[in-house]
Amino acid sequence: MTWRHALVIDPVAADDRPADGPGADFTDTFTPIDPQAPALSVGELSTQRGDGIFESIGVVDGHPQEVGAHLDRLIHSARLCDLPVPHREQWRQAVVAAATEAPEGESVMKLILSRGVEHGPAPTAWITVASAPDFRTVRRDGVRVATLDRGLDSGAPERAPWLLLGAKTLSYAVNMAAIREAKRRGADDALFVSSDGVLLEGPTSSLILRIDGRYVTPAPGAGILHGTTQMSVFEELARRGFETAYATLPASALSQADAAWLVSSVRLAVPVTAIDGSPMPVDGELTRSINEYLLSPRD
Ligand code: PLP
Repeated sequence: MTWRHALVIDPVAADDRPADGPGADFTDTFTPIDPQAPALSVGELSTQRGDGIFESIGVVDGHPQEVGAHLDRLIHSARLCDLPVPHREQWRQAVVAAATEAPEGESVMKLILSRGVEHGPAPTAWITVASAPDFRTVRRDGVRVATLDRGLDSGAPERAPWLLLGAKTLSYAVNMAAIREAKRRGADDALFVSSDGVLLEGPTSSLILRIDGRYVTPAPGAGILHGTTQMSVFEELARRGFETAYATLPASALSQADAAWLVSSVRLAVPVTAIDGSPMPVDGELTRSINEYLLSPRD
């Protein structure tokens, strides 16, 4: 990965600025830093405990995609984690500033808000921009998926909110372990299922199934992230006249589907070609046109 740009945001500087809308200028509250140089204190709670939240935004030819939806989720994650709520307009302006430094083609922009340095006075916030990996092949050829028990039942998000299941926290070690386990099982990616058999999400993506001509995705209340890409795909499918729905989907829904995708902000829509070794049909034409849509400028 080539790091192209980084900037540090001073969240405290926005506190005394009442205007949270167009008109206020926040450019003096963020500072570009050398993306190749060390920047974090050794006392950072993001690195010591994974105690923070993040967003990954796709940037296409300098245009950051779906910024509003990503900021909504960053704010939602902050609330769930008892972090100071990000100042929307400050972050929006920082995203716009960082995007001007993105190269042609596809990049990934990360927004990170950490609880800060241990015993320190303030959270730490920064944005990075890096070139995205080349996902063209996987978007066309798809992924084999292994279903994995998340080890929690579908009542866990409500019963144990401290598990932060709907927040996009920095603690992704479990998600990465799930992908390694899927690979050990001969697949390319994982799909989490609750211990009582409800379909959830991939470790870095949302699931969309097509069943009887209707596009369905697990409801975000199930302790999963509400995917910005899934929302955008549903908007586009609805514009094309297709029916879309959120649902509680049992694992048996997988065998009723005649197409399935894992969708996320940077890899975009990848067709699922097999689940636990059983082949899944691929709608190549729809996948191509959805990715074309996802690569067009979206706000
Ligand atoms: N679910 C999880 C656990 C994720 O990590 C991600 C993205 O990284 C998604 C879903 C998809 O979200 P988005 O489409 O906003 O990238």
